[in-house]
Amino acid sequence: MKSGKRIGIMGGTFNPIHNGHLLLAQTAKEQLTLDKILFMPSGNSYMKKNVLETEKRVAMAALAIAGHPDFELSLIEAQKSGNTYTCETLNLLSASNPDTRYFFIIGADILFQIEQWRNPEQIFRMAALACAVRDDYDFQAVQKKGDALAELGAEIYYLNMPKLDISSTDIRANVKNSLSISGLVPPEVAHYIEQERLYYEED
Ligand code: NAP
Repeated sequence: MKSGKRIGIMGGTFNPIHNGHLLLAQTAKEQLTLDKILFMPSGNSYMKKNVLETEKRVAMAALAIAGHPDFELSLIEAQKSGNTYTCETLNLLSASNPDTRYFFIIGADILFQIEQWRNPEQIFRMAALACAVRDDYDFQAVQKKGDALAELGAEIYYLNMPKLDISSTDIRANVKNSLSISGLVPPEVAHYIEQERLYYEED
């Protein structure tokens, strides 16, 4: 049994980071009594194309968590060249902090995708999954999937959280259509998007 810290990993493309991501991380911290949360913007993803450059996604993540003492930015994936894979990231973290217990924080959608990622069973060995079941989800379907993943070694904790109807896709569309994004992202992030004129010409 690991006796060190309990650390959450809030990984994301964060294109852009928004209040749903922040609520998810805070919920995991409170419900699983985590010591801190690492916000980890992804680097290159082989699964997503036309993603805003990493440097700007990182800048927005830094602005979003600036006022939160228990949230910390991790650049492990952002600074890696080539594609990033969660199994490799967890390998690096576990090797340098063998006593730390890691909780990889995810929305329930990811529970249905994670078997297609590289080395899912290795991910399950190195981190527990903290899975948000937003209140519009069919919890039985999520739990059934979770039970199947548990057979492969996954340790899954379910987080209760209210549905916050925010997505990065909608935020980009709002900006492009000159609609407000107030209340969807922290004010500092909204200001950065405006200042850098991000997403104004999205396809
Ligand atoms: P993202 O779109 O930025 O989302 C990050 C997380 O926030 C997801 O778990 C998402 O869950 C959740 N979320 C989004 N909107 C939310 C809301 N309104 N309320 C609550 N939760 C919300 O990032 P992503 O592209 O899914 O990537 C997530 C992580 O998976 C990253 O660390 C990435 O590197 C990793 N990943 C790894 C591989 C691999 O290793 N092969 C492949 C793909 C992704 P939902 O999806 O349920 O909305």
